[in-house]
Amino acid sequence: MSSNQAAAIHRDLDQGDLIVITGAGGFIGGALARYFHNMGFTRIRAIDKKPLPNWYQRVPGVECLSLDVSEKDNCTRAVEGAKEVYNLAADMGGMGFIERFRVECLRSVLINTNMIEAAYRAGVNRYFFSSSACVYNTTLQQDPNVRALKESDAYPAMSERGYGWEKLISEMFCQEYWAERKMKTFIARFHNVYGPLGTWDGGREKAPAAICRKVIEAKDQKTGKIMIWGDGSQTRSYMFIDDCVKGIDMIAHCDDLIATPINLGSSELISVNELVSIAEKIGGVKLQREYDPTAPRGVAGRNSDNTFIQKVLGWEPRTPFREGLTKTYAWIEQQYFDRKMGKPVVQETW
Ligand code: NAD
Repeated sequence: MSSNQAAAIHRDLDQGDLIVITGAGGFIGGALARYFHNMGFTRIRAIDKKPLPNWYQRVPGVECLSLDVSEKDNCTRAVEGAKEVYNLAADMGGMGFIERFRVECLRSVLINTNMIEAAYRAGVNRYFFSSSACVYNTTLQQDPNVRALKESDAYPAMSERGYGWEKLISEMFCQEYWAERKMKTFIARFHNVYGPLGTWDGGREKAPAAICRKVIEAKDQKTGKIMIWGDGSQTRSYMFIDDCVKGIDMIAHCDDLIATPINLGSSELISVNELVSIAEKIGGVKLQREYDPTAPRGVAGRNSDNTFIQKVLGWEPRTPFREGLTKTYAWIEQQYFDRKMGKPVVQETW
């Protein structure tokens, strides 16, 4: 395995320059606002359409605005004075959400379309777009022992319906704003992200959080059983949130990556059955498995080929899954029991 010595980050950004992050009331955007704040950046504007009390986290000292950035005028307001813009707003969720609400997913195209134009007009220096591994050609993902996907595998295009196609066209916007208008844009294709302060219940959560919650529920309610979507053989790689925000920072400040989509994901392939075993081990329990073949399961297998990110950045997301899931499980368990006692928790609904 190659070393993981990250290249130094060369930020052309002063501590007092304005950083704008959309989708900051959600999981990754919220973590990114905290990351830049912890690094000493003093002017961060966090934006989300959710009312402020519903944000997953609000970082003291960060300006928080409740704005719907699918609307043009709100985008103009959002990017006013910005040096860098990180667009992470999207209507999204796990397989259950993206298979059922394809129109909602497609409508996120309004967000990037209006945000990138507003950013261009405001003269921002760098514009980051959060794309997804769902852009990849689905015909390459029909086997759980999938070949890891490299960046060129997005074309010829046959993306995930709804969500994947929206991400692909938004990527193209980013590429053309550079080609034609010389705005520096950056595009990361995230592979499943998980960690504390993410969605864990309500229908938008992804597999790691859903499985942790089900194990915790089964233990608490003493059912001895767990329901698994599909046959459990489907595979994915999962990136821990700390790796994700670090990767965003590195990608957005690397001029070799202007307008160049790049994988940001772990390359540790895990089946859903393995994920359940790991969560059971963390929870100290063994459950009887039941399978729902009619439930949404997405593609059979998906992994991130990290050759390109290693070549350009000398780094890739490497938090071992077991380590990241242990932290996530502990956080969800706390949330679960807090909710049971009537305390406020991080919660999202459809
Ligand atoms: P999230 O749902 O926790 O956060 C997204 C936030 O965007 C939400 O808080 C939502 O309210 C907000 N939003 C939606 N529409 C908006 C609008 N019109 N105006 C303002 N805010 C709006 O999701 P996340 O996991 O933090 O994902 C962040 C980004 O990363 C998204 O673009 C998502 O598509 C992408 N992504 C995430 C994953 C993952 O595994 N979490 C994987 C691939 C790509």
